[in-house]
Amino acid sequence: MTTATEPAPALPTIPVMKPWLGEEEAAAAAEAVASGWVAQGPRVRLFEQEFAQRVGAVEGVAVSNCTTGLHLALHLLGVGAGDEVVVPSFSFIATANAARYVSATPVFADVDPVTGNLTAETVEAVLTERTRAVIVVHQAGVPADTRPLYALLESRGIAVVEDAACAIGSTLYGAPVGAGVDLAVFSFHPRKLVTTGEGGMIATRRPEWAARARRLREHGMSASAAERHATGSVAPEQYLEPGFNFRMTDVQAAIGRVQLGRLDAMVARRRQLADRYRALLADVPGLRMVGDPAWGTTNYQSCWVLLPEDFPVSRDDLLVEFTRAGISPRRGIMAAHLELAYADLPRVELPVTERLTRDSLILPLFHQMTEDDQDRVIDVLRDVASR
Ligand SMILES: *Cc1c(COP(=O)(O)O)cnc(C)c1O
Repeated sequence: MTTATEPAPALPTIPVMKPWLGEEEAAAAAEAVASGWVAQGPRVRLFEQEFAQRVGAVEGVAVSNCTTGLHLALHLLGVGAGDEVVVPSFSFIATANAARYVSATPVFADVDPVTGNLTAETVEAVLTERTRAVIVVHQAGVPADTRPLYALLESRGIAVVEDAACAIGSTLYGAPVGAGVDLAVFSFHPRKLVTTGEGGMIATRRPEWAARARRLREHGMSASAAERHATGSVAPEQYLEPGFNFRMTDVQAAIGRVQLGRLDAMVARRRQLADRYRALLADVPGLRMVGDPAWGTTNYQSCWVLLPEDFPVSRDDLLVEFTRAGISPRRGIMAAHLELAYADLPRVELPVTERLTRDSLILPLFHQMTEDDQDRVIDVLRDVASR
């Protein structure tokens, strides 16, 4: 007989996000490999068509990731040296970096405290005669109210690129994010809903822009390798302008096509779990959880909460408490203007961004999450809140 108390078996760590991948994705990838066509080919074309249909775009142009997609979008618009591109600082740093890739200057605008998104008011406050484009982010999957922004910017000849990295499956004015817009760029990184490992997609309503984007992502080639293969053409391709290699592979596209079929189920499950978080956290005083704005619905790509100013511990101490309990939430959305990468820009005051980035955190939320997992997260938060 043993009297020593056995340590309780450690509970599995709860991650902030986990991709939902199954046998079907593995089989689709294997099929692409067996076909011998592993670089950009027919599966990429099919994925583009299926994606465009799903988000209500005329064309989809697959790229290597959302960051290269944003770069390509600004390049397509002719944004360059001497131009300013307005971006939210409250975003993953790739949004601001895109402006730098085309030698333009990012100009940070503040965001709405509830949605975390740019508004016509915050953008108007930073426009100058050098503003050429604005990158509007649908942050964490929450759709931005883009109508007032387009109204403000179109009349001044300023282009809009929608950074929809997080927003596949979110809706805006009753349609999917990306429907009918000039340029929206999506991400298929595993932190987003639909994943291809790495990957991205430009959605556009303009076929001529899609055609040029397809050339530019493939070294500026007049006809892709897949097209020449399909038509048996022996005519040498031409290089119409300097391009990039921003291609997606057919292995990735094969996975993406299966993932797209799971999107509705992914969104439904995330919204169900988010509603449960909201209900069970409702009595934590002052805690605010992100949700649907009046003009659309979120896919809860990131389910972030904002701690009240008088919360008993700091956000960073709360993260430590979660780590002790085997839970991996993340700090809230970053603020690019506070990073060394942008220390060379004139210092700007972005009070809403600074408050949100300091006091928010992203709660674990993934398709396979159980209510027991969720209860562990809720227990920590309520326990700390009641100190
Ligand atoms: C994830 C993310 C990106 C970058 O996407 P990648 O596909 O990883 O390049 C850009 N913008 C936002 C808002 C993101 O969340």
